[in-house]
Amino acid sequence: MKAAYFHGVGDIRVEETLPPEAGADELVIKMKASAICGTDLRILKFGHFKIPGGTKRVLGHEIAGEVVQVGKNVTQFKIGMRVALPPNVGCGACAMCRRGYTQLCPTYEAFGISYDGGFQDYVKVPARAIARGNVVVIPDGISYEEAAMVEPFSCAYHSYKALNIKPGDSVVVIGAGPIGGCHVLMSKLAGAAKIIVADVQDNRLEEMVKLGVDVTVNSAKEDLKQAVLRETDGEGASVIITACSIPQIQTLAMELAATHGRINLFGGMPKDKEIVPLNTNLIHYKELTVLGTTGSSVNDYCESMALVASGKLNLMPLASARFGVSQINAAFDYALSGQGMKTLVVEE
Ligand SMILES: [Zn+2]
Ligand SMILES: [Zn+2]
Repeated sequence: MKAAYFHGVGDIRVEETLPPEAGADELVIKMKASAICGTDLRILKFGHFKIPGGTKRVLGHEIAGEVVQVGKNVTQFKIGMRVALPPNVGCGACAMCRRGYTQLCPTYEAFGISYDGGFQDYVKVPARAIARGNVVVIPDGISYEEAAMVEPFSCAYHSYKALNIKPGDSVVVIGAGPIGGCHVLMSKLAGAAKIIVADVQDNRLEEMVKLGVDVTVNSAKEDLKQAVLRETDGEGASVIITACSIPQIQTLAMELAATHGRINLFGGMPKDKEIVPLNTNLIHYKELTVLGTTGSSVNDYCESMALVASGKLNLMPLASARFGVSQINAAFDYALSGQGMKTLVVEE
């Protein structure tokens, strides 16, 4: 079979390997669709602290496929089942896992980081992932591609729950990448009265128009604060989501918010840029709520899958391009180019 191994910064190679064998407590799935995430792009550029130098790893944590091998002790899955894999596997025993925040487990393991992930023909599912509920049956009517995209959406869903977006809210999303698109879809579903998306790339803003946003702002050409004030009758927005890794945007978010506005600093900062100046008087006098969310729990993932299954949420407009495992470098080049939304690696 073919597997695309990350060997180090900037180095992914397609290799011919033997397909994995399921141990007694494991599964093997035939990969049908695995989406490329911003995290994969960051690992390719900068590496990852959980992938030590000298080890090779198959990236990809947005995975959907068909069960093709079932270990003899595994009773709840059968050959032929369609499954998707919420990537973050908690230990099950720590305070965070007990409260359901599996993505905050200090010893979490993850597909595409601690385990070989989705950019290969067959994926082995370790016993711990099965035991922790990280194998989710895909409801009928959801394609493998759409199931693979539940993972990025679930991060926006987790953000939505923290922000408590309500009907009538005005929402500003800064960053028109695929995750920005997920925030748009979630905000629409929550009944936001007006959704404003800002980015510096016109092609990405055009994608947002297809997703049904009300206003797009190219913040390289137009002053974002003026645009937000204009679109909110001078009040500022009730919700701001920074879906990018730019310190100045976090600073600006405080100015874009209305009194009692809620701000999610969704995008993390690179290590050397994490100290960001904020006008705390804006937080104080406007009684802002400034919070952060990261990733999503297995529960967020399952609830997101249920939203898709309900027919109220369609993730397919996010799918822009498809490549086989053997074309992995072309797939990463496409994703890095900032064209389209989600890049999918699919069964060849
Ligand atoms: Zn992801
Ligand atoms: Zn834990």
